[in-house]
Amino acid sequence: MNDLFQNQVPLLRPWLGKEEIDAVSEVIASGWICQGNKVDAFENGIANFVGAKFGVATNSCTQALHLCLTIKGVGIGDEVICPSFTCMATANAIHHSGAIPCFADIDEQTYNFNPESVKKVISPKTKAIMLVHQIGQPADIDSFKKIASEFNLLLIEDAATALGAKYKDKYLGANDSTACFSFHPRKMITTGEGGMIVTSDKELVRKAKMLRSTGADSSDLERHHAKGTLIQNYVAVGYNYRMTDMQAAMGLVQLKKINDIINQRAEQAKVYNNTLSEIEEIEIPFVPKFGVHAYSSYLIRLKKNCGVSQKEFLNKMAANGVSCRIGIQPLHFEPFYRNLFGTLSFPVTEEVAKSTVFLPIFPGMTEKEQSKVIQSIKKIIVKNHVKV
Ligand SMILES: *Cc1c(COP(=O)(O)O)cnc(C)c1O
Repeated sequence: MNDLFQNQVPLLRPWLGKEEIDAVSEVIASGWICQGNKVDAFENGIANFVGAKFGVATNSCTQALHLCLTIKGVGIGDEVICPSFTCMATANAIHHSGAIPCFADIDEQTYNFNPESVKKVISPKTKAIMLVHQIGQPADIDSFKKIASEFNLLLIEDAATALGAKYKDKYLGANDSTACFSFHPRKMITTGEGGMIVTSDKELVRKAKMLRSTGADSSDLERHHAKGTLIQNYVAVGYNYRMTDMQAAMGLVQLKKINDIINQRAEQAKVYNNTLSEIEEIEIPFVPKFGVHAYSSYLIRLKKNCGVSQKEFLNKMAANGVSCRIGIQPLHFEPFYRNLFGTLSFPVTEEVAKSTVFLPIFPGMTEKEQSKVIQSIKKIIVKNHVKV
């Protein structure tokens, strides 16, 4: 089907088809390709799906996070706490607001934020906690809500990877959360690039819609409907963070498939869990009782006794025709932060980063492909196994 991926089990393969192609083609043929009705419909669709009141679409989750911080008054001189074990984009959004990211460590089992570590870095300058739901795994929202209210901090959820994950029987983004999603191809559904804020905060929505579109107090679509009689006023220095109707049309098709996508990933995770839990040298993902993992990624941990390093494991899997990847690169090791902060130490983050790898998981992965992954792991781990 796709030459890019022949004879190789890829880390992921976008799950797109004729329906997406038709939906985008229809938008192009309609003559309205920029932010318009499709974006409105996609915002409502995502908000309805997660159980939030409103959605505000952007062109990336980075932009969505940046808007939330800026609108909530986070700026120069402030600190925002976020994990080091996350995508660079989380911290970039904090910098864009003018604030400084302040890293804290993660939990040994869930790889999500550790509340005790977060409390330790709260300072008089701390304005917000950016709670990341990492690789589809819901973080313990209630314990962070408690910290936020105790120290009078904002709580913003970076749920980029975790559309469809549940916390205490509700989808992330439900109720009174303010959460941001990404629609990059490595996330749960895709629009190529894209992001969205979901919230029940009406004022945040009003400001986000204004700021994403040059700071104008009316949208292109509103002016179009007014047939030229509506003149916009520029009430702030805004951005161009608009999603196009072409992207939103694709997103609407993807959203129709979300339950299928969630189920396929859950099934694949179950197969991995069942077979890999038999291999004593590997740790499978731990999911706390309060949560349902969306498995946007499947991260395994190579225990010390597994006989291969992370790098050897990746090379051997590649030689077997399976693409894996190192887990998440700690931000405090990146050149930018080394220069800015000097040497920082987050022991759990560092240990987890050294010992974890992503396995292929994606809707449309065949049983044959998955069994090739599993057989390759068995071959590598058993062959290199050193009894200790
Ligand atoms: C992917 C990702 C982002 C960034 O999303 P974009 O849409 O690419 O801006 C932010 N945070 C986390 C945790 C991510 O995984």
